[in-house]
Amino acid sequence: MATKNNLDNLRHSTSHLLAAAVTSLWPNAKPTLGPPIENGFYYDFDFADTKISEEDLVKIEEKMHQLVKDWKEFRRFHESIHAIKERFKDNQYKLELIREFEKDNQDITVYQSGNFIDLCRGGHIDNPAKEIKYFKLLSVAGAYWRGSEKNTMLTRIYGTIFATQKELDKYLADLEEAKKRDHRKIGKELELFTISEEVGPGLVLWLPKGNIIKEEIEKWAKETEEAWGYQRVTTPNITKSGLYFTSGHLPYYKDDMYPPMKGEGGEEYYLKPMNCPHHHMIYKSKVRSYKELPLRLAEYGTCYRYEASGELFGMMRVRGFSQNDSHIYCTPEQAVGEFVNVMRLHEYYYKTLGITEYHLVLSLRDPTNKKKYHGDEDMWKLAEGLMREAAGKVDIKMVEDIGSAAFYGPKIDFVIRSSIGREFGISTNQIDLFMGKRFNLKYVDKSGKEETPVIIHRAPLGSHERFIAFLIEHWGGNFPVWLSPVQVKVLPITDKNLSYAKSVWEKLKENGIRAELDERNERLQAKIRDAQIQKIPYMLILGDKEEKEKTVSVRGRSGKDSGALSIDKFIGNIRKEIETKSL
Ligand SMILES: [Zn+2]
Ligand SMILES: [Zn+2]
Repeated sequence: MATKNNLDNLRHSTSHLLAAAVTSLWPNAKPTLGPPIENGFYYDFDFADTKISEEDLVKIEEKMHQLVKDWKEFRRFHESIHAIKERFKDNQYKLELIREFEKDNQDITVYQSGNFIDLCRGGHIDNPAKEIKYFKLLSVAGAYWRGSEKNTMLTRIYGTIFATQKELDKYLADLEEAKKRDHRKIGKELELFTISEEVGPGLVLWLPKGNIIKEEIEKWAKETEEAWGYQRVTTPNITKSGLYFTSGHLPYYKDDMYPPMKGEGGEEYYLKPMNCPHHHMIYKSKVRSYKELPLRLAEYGTCYRYEASGELFGMMRVRGFSQNDSHIYCTPEQAVGEFVNVMRLHEYYYKTLGITEYHLVLSLRDPTNKKKYHGDEDMWKLAEGLMREAAGKVDIKMVEDIGSAAFYGPKIDFVIRSSIGREFGISTNQIDLFMGKRFNLKYVDKSGKEETPVIIHRAPLGSHERFIAFLIEHWGGNFPVWLSPVQVKVLPITDKNLSYAKSVWEKLKENGIRAELDERNERLQAKIRDAQIQKIPYMLILGDKEEKEKTVSVRGRSGKDSGALSIDKFIGNIRKEIETKSL
């Protein structure tokens, strides 16, 4: 199997080939950037007025197969900067890059393969004609130049390539499965959520059935966190700007926040992009003693972030979300123990949900770019040391990521993997030594001296929006019974059995089971099919025999018949399944 680096080189090399094919078919198209990505590559083009659709992909692929025959190598091409600028004089995108590289005194290099020459930093395979074989172009999308709405909208062509046909086939099959499990598709079919352009992009409207899932998860989080020593609080969705200047989010984070509203006295209010400062003000509402610590304040807090419109994606990437948030205020001596407990809480949640594959990502500062971070060296070292110590006490794999720390400290993210192998960053955790000082938080220690508490940030279940989108994919919409919006569908075989069916339905509801009755005058097969499409865990089929014997015939959503049971026996079974959160 190819190593990651080889695969990245193979993919990036194929993006050159894509650009060569596109410019050969549409000589006016301007190639911009073409990096490898997870599972493939893309290349962004300015096609000017030409519209490219997925129907064009076959033609482009054919061209790629044809051109690659003459691609014996990637040759670094030596030219003066002047000549390079001249070469790309009609491509304002490449010129912009060249000028930036020039300003930063970076090497400016071009590579040639076949007749195609591109501005590139390198990272190629040796023999494209031999190695670029098992590829496929996948889709076409719009993408702004350098991700900013202020720039031109380009056309992005996605593709993938593997070292063998077998790996490519497996990937394409997985992709088909992922399409079937797409949370936007299932969310619509099962009537879980909607997004309305009138309300605004990225703002989720939870429909009654989706809201049941959301409330069940929230109820579970509340019960669990109460047992784990958390106290619940509620904070408003907006706040005056001063709070974010104290935290440092203003002005640095301004582009990620909704524009401010003006109050009567001219003061500015912002929708909150995170809950931390609000919780800090609750901490600060009275004098705290060491005896109160650790103080764990929890809230499903609603936050708003003005994500670029091109980044929005169903419920996965949104502009408004409710976060399973908490801040733990503790003494420095308690920090490691508390952080270990936070990681154990994650494990408990994930185990209950059958999420067995996850790992940690420790995000550290980029030592060559210190401008991005606060400058207290000792604090960075200490925070990193404490988090490493805590991570060493749990048995979870950890990888490091340089350069993705927050400006105020390192962080540990949980990355979880769905049943079809896709990974999602779900929860960010920090031992934060910085904000306590910024907010002038204090507690009185044993000797009567004022000290600054350590703050732990955590959100094991992420936000409702992202987490439930993940769960939809993880289970393909087949939620376990405790989370299913409708747990039982009662299906009378004919109208004759309707009154018996109604009595069964009433009894289920009396026992706290979410049940629906299919009263339509339809054939049983049609009723069963509709309940299966809705992925309802149990169907109770009621005919003359069941009515006479006062039983219910139980059918699972996968089609498995469990035979006839007394209604009490069925209720006992399903209640147990719900209470144990059985998967
Ligand atoms: Zn290249
Ligand atoms: Zn926080």
